[in-house]
Amino acid sequence: AYRPSRYVSASRLKVSFEFFPPKNEEMEQTLWESVERLAPLNPSFVSVTYGAGGSTRERTHATVSRIVKETALKPAAHLTCVAATKDQVNEVIRDYWAAGVRHIVALRGDPVGGVGTAYTSHPGGYEGSPELIAGIKAIGDFEVSVSAYPEMHPESGSVERDIEMLKRKVDAGATRAITQFFFDNDLYLRYLDRVRAAGINIPIVPGIVPVQNFKQTAGFAARTGASIPDWLAKRFEGLENDPATRKLIAASVAAEQALDLVDRGITEFHFYTMNRADLVYAVCHLLGMRPEAAAAKAEAA
Ligand code: FAD
Repeated sequence: AYRPSRYVSASRLKVSFEFFPPKNEEMEQTLWESVERLAPLNPSFVSVTYGAGGSTRERTHATVSRIVKETALKPAAHLTCVAATKDQVNEVIRDYWAAGVRHIVALRGDPVGGVGTAYTSHPGGYEGSPELIAGIKAIGDFEVSVSAYPEMHPESGSVERDIEMLKRKVDAGATRAITQFFFDNDLYLRYLDRVRAAGINIPIVPGIVPVQNFKQTAGFAARTGASIPDWLAKRFEGLENDPATRKLIAASVAAEQALDLVDRGITEFHFYTMNRADLVYAVCHLLGMRPEAAAAKAEAA
C-alpha cells in the first residue's frame, strides 16, 4: 500500500534518466529544459536512445556530444547493430570514444520488418548483442549496459532462453542491465530471483516509466511483451480528456511503484523520461531526493 509519509534515505538511491534525440528545434528546447531540470538530482548517468536501425545516428551523437560539452553529466549512448555492417557500427563506436563518451547501452535492435517479424543479422554485421558487446570492448574500455526483460522478450520463447541471452551478454562484458518497463513489481522481483539463480550478479536496474499517456504506453507495452495490469487501466479510466488529472495520477502511480521497490530492497532506478522532466522530478522528490543533497553527494564523491 502507498505510504505517502514514508521517508526513504535518498543517499542510498541511484537514479539514471533516459532521453531520446530531438527531431526539431522545439523538441530540442524541451529536451534541454528537461536535462537542466533533472541534472541537479545528480544521476549516475543519462542515456540517449538510438532510433530503429540507426535512423537517429547523427542526432543521437549530437545529443550525447552536447551533454559531454555542456554539462557535468555522464552520458550513455544507446547503440544497435541491426541493419548495419560491423564497419559502420565500429565507426559509431570510435566516434563516441573520440567525443569522450565512455558508456554504451548495447542492443541488438528490433528486426527490420518490425516487432513480430523474424530477426536476421545484416550481412557483414554483428550477429547479435553479445557480438556487439565484444566489438565495443575491442575498440575501447567502455562501460557497457544492456537490456533485460522481466516479462521476457517476445522473441525468446522461454524465460530460460531469455536469461541465457542475458548471461551471454554479461560474459561478453556487460556490467549493468536495464529492464524493459513493467508495472507489477512481483514480476520484476521473481525475474531477479531467476537471474541470480542463473549466476548473473550484475545490477538489473528497474526501468520505470511514468505513464504520460496511458493509451500510448499500453500500445507500446503490447509490442514489447510488457503487461498492463487491470488496476493500472482502472486508474486512468475516464481521464482521456483530462490531462491535468492524468499527470497527477501518473506521478502517484510511478512513485508508488518505486517506493514499493525501495521497501523491497531496490535502490537503483532508471527512468524513461520521454524528454519531460516534471513527472520524473516529482517521483524522485517523493523518493526523498533533493538537489542540495545531490550536490553535496556529488562533491563528496
Ligand atoms: P537481445 O537481448 O540480444 O535479445 C532479446 C531476446 O531475444 C533474447 O533474450 C533472446 O532470447 C531472443 N533472441 C535474440 N536473438 C535471437 C535469435 N537470433 N533467435 C532467437 N531468439 C533470439 N531499441 C532501439 O532501437 N534503440 C534503443 O535505443 C533501444 N533502447 C532500449 C533500452 C532498453 C533498456 C531496452 C529494454 C530496450 C531498448 N530497445 C531499443 C529495444 C530493443 O532494441 C528491442 O527489444 C530488440 O528487439 C532486442 O534488442 P536487445 O538488445 O534487447 O536483444
